Amino acid sequence: MSTLRFKVVEEAFTHKAVAVEEPAERPSEYFAKYVFNREKMFKYLPKKTYDALVNVIDNGAPFNREIADSVAAGMKKWAMEMGATHYTHWFHPLTEGTAEKHDSFIEHDSKGGVVEEFSGKLLIQQEPDASSFPNGGIRNTFEARGYSAWDPSSPAFIVDDTLCIPTIFVSYTGESLDYKTPLLRALNSVNKAATAVCNYFDPNVKKVFSYLGWEQEYFLVDEALYSARPDLLLTDRTLMGHDSAKNQQLEDHYFGAIPTRVSAFMKDLEIECLKLGIPAKTRHNEVAPNQFELAPIFEEVNLANDHNLLLMSVMKKVARRHNFRVLLHEKPFKGVNGSGKHNNWSLGTDTGILLFAPGKTPKENLQFMTFIINVMTAVYRHNGLLKASIASATNGHRLGANEAPPAIISIFMGKQVSEILDTMASFNSKDDFKMNGKEGFDLGVTQIPEILRDNTDRNRTSPFAFTGNRFEFRAVGSSANCASAMIALNAAVADQLQEFKTLVDSRIAKGESTEKAILSVLKEYINESKNIRFDGNGYSDEWKAEAARRGLDCETSVPVIYDNYLKPESVKMFTDTHVFSEVELHARNEVKWETYTKKIQIEARVLGDLAINHIVPVATRYQSLLLDNVFKIKSLFPAEKSEVIANQDMEVIEKIAAHLLVIKEKVHTMIEARKVANKIESEREKAIAYHDTVAPLMDEIRYHIDKLELMVDNEMWPLPKYRELLFIR
Ligand code: ADP
Ligand code: MG
Repeated sequence: MSTLRFKVVEEAFTHKAVAVEEPAERPSEYFAKYVFNREKMFKYLPKKTYDALVNVIDNGAPFNREIADSVAAGMKKWAMEMGATHYTHWFHPLTEGTAEKHDSFIEHDSKGGVVEEFSGKLLIQQEPDASSFPNGGIRNTFEARGYSAWDPSSPAFIVDDTLCIPTIFVSYTGESLDYKTPLLRALNSVNKAATAVCNYFDPNVKKVFSYLGWEQEYFLVDEALYSARPDLLLTDRTLMGHDSAKNQQLEDHYFGAIPTRVSAFMKDLEIECLKLGIPAKTRHNEVAPNQFELAPIFEEVNLANDHNLLLMSVMKKVARRHNFRVLLHEKPFKGVNGSGKHNNWSLGTDTGILLFAPGKTPKENLQFMTFIINVMTAVYRHNGLLKASIASATNGHRLGANEAPPAIISIFMGKQVSEILDTMASFNSKDDFKMNGKEGFDLGVTQIPEILRDNTDRNRTSPFAFTGNRFEFRAVGSSANCASAMIALNAAVADQLQEFKTLVDSRIAKGESTEKAILSVLKEYINESKNIRFDGNGYSDEWKAEAARRGLDCETSVPVIYDNYLKPESVKMFTDTHVFSEVELHARNEVKWETYTKKIQIEARVLGDLAINHIVPVATRYQSLLLDNVFKIKSLFPAEKSEVIANQDMEVIEKIAAHLLVIKEKVHTMIEARKVANKIESEREKAIAYHDTVAPLMDEIRYHIDKLELMVDNEMWPLPKYRELLFIR
């Protein structure tokens, strides 16, 4: 009998809901308790410093040393009152997740003792020994150092005993080595471009914010069961496991009552979130068993993304208090839904207008149409790049794998907007129209407000959907850093808006009215980008054929998808918007390919080990039991009778032998394929080799292991089965 599996299943059943200590105060009172937000800045900083810092945050004013020293002193006072003893620059290297190196506040006091110190210099800039973070070759050519610098637009916060200071991470020569730096550049770029376009409609707009509301999907697995699955432990996904007889077919989990243990976990997590200033709002069961979701209220993109990264690490910690492990992998279980992280994205002005929300007047609606058409066009022109921005070894299991979202980027606009777009496309520039007058071309604006109410027109198969006042980029993976998608999207839209402005201005210079110039350019864009619009079923095979005819990027191989970053139009877009230099783009792709290879390599090794050292021995043992049985039958019964009785066992013995043969053979082939791939010099070619020659073997091996799972005595099977992983909670 497989003692480990049965022991952990038994242990998992002893896990009960853990009591959660609820704060005595109301959530509004403990919200952001651990955040050095404006309220704390006001309290802990001298008035002059406070004003200067707010000017830095709101208006991007330069941040000088005098303010820095004063800010650091106030921040340290607050942090120490909160019990912090250490501080860290918290940054987002090109790995998944975040990096931090903790230093304590203590310094020599020159009298043989120590004092707690924290200077402006330490606040603003540090030089973490960064040589082991991925850099795609940037640091080899220059100096092996990088430095981290404070991003004052995201507030410092305390986790346990450590003051965390959000920072960017760049090389000595200024190339970004992280996600935050290009994200801030992209946000800056879209702000400038969108503000300029807004000024056609309202000269009072000074700033445009980009907003993000992510929806984090995840799985929970009991910690005891998790510990008996080396694949989960090392790769975050199950590399084998036959479907459970019951999984999601009854659709009884989605939005169902939240199980008590999970509900305790969620409550605990939400309290932690609120204390860290993460505005957690929605929680529910997702489609697959043991799959759940958490969504906050949307925030400005940079902050929202810091909050998502923080959430992912807090989740892991809190889960352990509840004897759970969180799986953020996009596809931890075959045959049930995977996890995404929908990125709800919008632009809004400092005058309080959401630019993707229909307005009340014709003018407001022309502005609304201007923005959504520009987004559509940007997504059309950069559809391959946007796919590259969400592609990864792990998300590759969702993309194109007959599941949301397909590996083709298209936009769902909904019936009403589509009708308006079609009307606008047929707009005749000779038509007289007056934006504020009664007659003339009115865009069918009377229908637009309906869109907000009629939000039921939802297409779950679309990777990029208009949802009334925002776009929902659904292709983003659950384990991803949202910055990757947000960088590509905001930069592409910034570039698009810049072009739009140039075209409109040149028409105005030739004597056209502003409205007419805008409409004329929009009309061209609608026609140009019409191929990106698709309201049908994105999972269907017809769509794949149709998308190819339309010239959309249909590539499904993740390493090849990354090529989109280096296409001339992408390089031009990123350099024009100052988001990435060409050097950075090349370096980052090296990192992407390398990461892809390593992920598959690790999975292949784990699978090989599990197959040969866990599964093959067990199946062989079971087969030998059967052989034993057959022998005994043959020795006891006359030949004719024993033939009949032993027949079934004989069949199983042969089937097991056949599966074992293939497994051993394929594992061997897989090792050889890795050897060949490992010798390839180019990171791109190596990743492609892993994709083409190693990954498919993993599927084949798995197929045969899963067949064995159905044959081998349940008592002997060593790994917790899907029904246990997915239903014990
Ligand atoms: P659903 O599952 O129906 O798509 P949820 O309520 O789970 O919706 O999540 C919607 C997310 O979109 C939330 O994070 C919400 O704050 C966010 N959101 C709502 N309006 C906007 C907006 N204008 N811009 C960005 N995000 C938004
Ligand atoms: Mg959603």
